[in-house]
Amino acid sequence: MANKKTKKQSKNLKKFWKLGEDEFNTQYFDVNANGELVVKEGYYQYNIMDIVKRYGTVTEVFFPFILENRVRDLIELFNAYIKILNYKGKFYYHYVMKSNQSREFVLPAIAEGAHIEVSSANELSLVKKMLEQDKFNRKIRVTCNGPKTDQYISLIEELRGKGLLIIPIIENSGELERLKKFKGEVGLRVNLDLKVDAHWDKKYNHFGFDEDELAKIGKVRNLSMLHYHISTQNEKIEGFIKPLKRAIELYAKLKQHNPNLDTINFGGGMAVPYEKRKKLISVKNLVNQMIKVAKKESDKLGVKHPNLVCEWGSYFTAPSQITIFKILGEKAIFKKADTKWYFIDGSFISHLTDTWSPVHHKWHFVTANHLNARRLQKVWLAGSTCDSDDRYTSSGNYVLLPKFTEEMTDLYLVAFDTGSYQYTLGNNHCLLSKPALVVCQNGAVKLSRKRQTAEEIGKLFGWNGEHK
Ligand SMILES: *Cc1c(COP(=O)(O)O)cnc(C)c1O
Repeated sequence: MANKKTKKQSKNLKKFWKLGEDEFNTQYFDVNANGELVVKEGYYQYNIMDIVKRYGTVTEVFFPFILENRVRDLIELFNAYIKILNYKGKFYYHYVMKSNQSREFVLPAIAEGAHIEVSSANELSLVKKMLEQDKFNRKIRVTCNGPKTDQYISLIEELRGKGLLIIPIIENSGELERLKKFKGEVGLRVNLDLKVDAHWDKKYNHFGFDEDELAKIGKVRNLSMLHYHISTQNEKIEGFIKPLKRAIELYAKLKQHNPNLDTINFGGGMAVPYEKRKKLISVKNLVNQMIKVAKKESDKLGVKHPNLVCEWGSYFTAPSQITIFKILGEKAIFKKADTKWYFIDGSFISHLTDTWSPVHHKWHFVTANHLNARRLQKVWLAGSTCDSDDRYTSSGNYVLLPKFTEEMTDLYLVAFDTGSYQYTLGNNHCLLSKPALVVCQNGAVKLSRKRQTAEEIGKLFGWNGEHK
């Protein structure tokens, strides 16, 4: 009986903390019998409290198997529907470097069959490093977004010279002029004249050619790709279908002067269920519809089915990492008796910086221990910088966490889906340290990047120990 009861209790806890659910990308997370957060890789299990004890906080924990599974699943899904629906184009997934440039992330994605997208000369220089170290097969395809500085263009030319299939995406007439003599394939980015209901729906967009500019462009040497990136955190199927339809019309028009154009790159933007309150898009359904629409529209216009390139970034990287903080203590909130401040040793400004981006990230928080606490507390979270905005109130609502009791000596906070953008967007406000990175793979737990020390940060600001 007792066993049955604990099982039921653990199931309820799991449900309460939104763990173990595919649609929230928490299928690998569970609560153990001691009320601690565990992560399951096959039959291997990582206890987050073990990581806390060994490496302290603030710590980012990356699970390569989550990233690998996501990459493999999406490539298989597109290929399956291409086959079922007898679609004639091919599918290429490009890992978006800017979503996380860490070697620990990039290499497993490539090993699963990802190509690469870069957004700057410095990101491309990492590709050069991999190439020099023979880290990948030269059949890998690299798309280059972002403003083409002289340094960027010469690196693109250098890597093309080394036999890499590298495709600069041209964004405006200046770049078109400067890449006129480029010998390899090129792409054009279009600023689609339509609205989708997502977080990048700006009336004035400074990326890419406007549709009417594009219509007048005529022949472009070696044009092979039409690219668009309509938004980020796009939560509706229509937000992918509408732009794809429009892009296929433009593709058909451009093809009249550019018969070698054979690919549509539909950019990034697939939503991540950060909040874990409602179901988002079913990827299976979306892929099915995208292939159907691409086929139907290109057949209607009498053009060859385009190859499809996907540059979803956060969809892959965000759910494969969590960030752990220590809860330092609590404090009553003046004039808000039912809620308390919980102070953390990290910061929303330095470690979860997207809390303020235009996307206004909401995060899902649980604790690493005491998940079985009998009593819960409504809290607002306060970060460790001196900034009054360094806090998280869930938009004036609250976060529900275990209530501090006399016996509780420590409590650790875990934020989900922190694998994209947070480390690069983060900073040293109040000289807080950038977090450590721990990697959990094949049952082994390894420190991959140390937490920044006071000494290292000091050096960044010219404090080299020589006081003249
Ligand atoms: C940022 C970016 C992406 C990835 O966007 P996500 O919202 O992370 O999927 C893809 N393509 C381009 C051109 C981008 O700028």
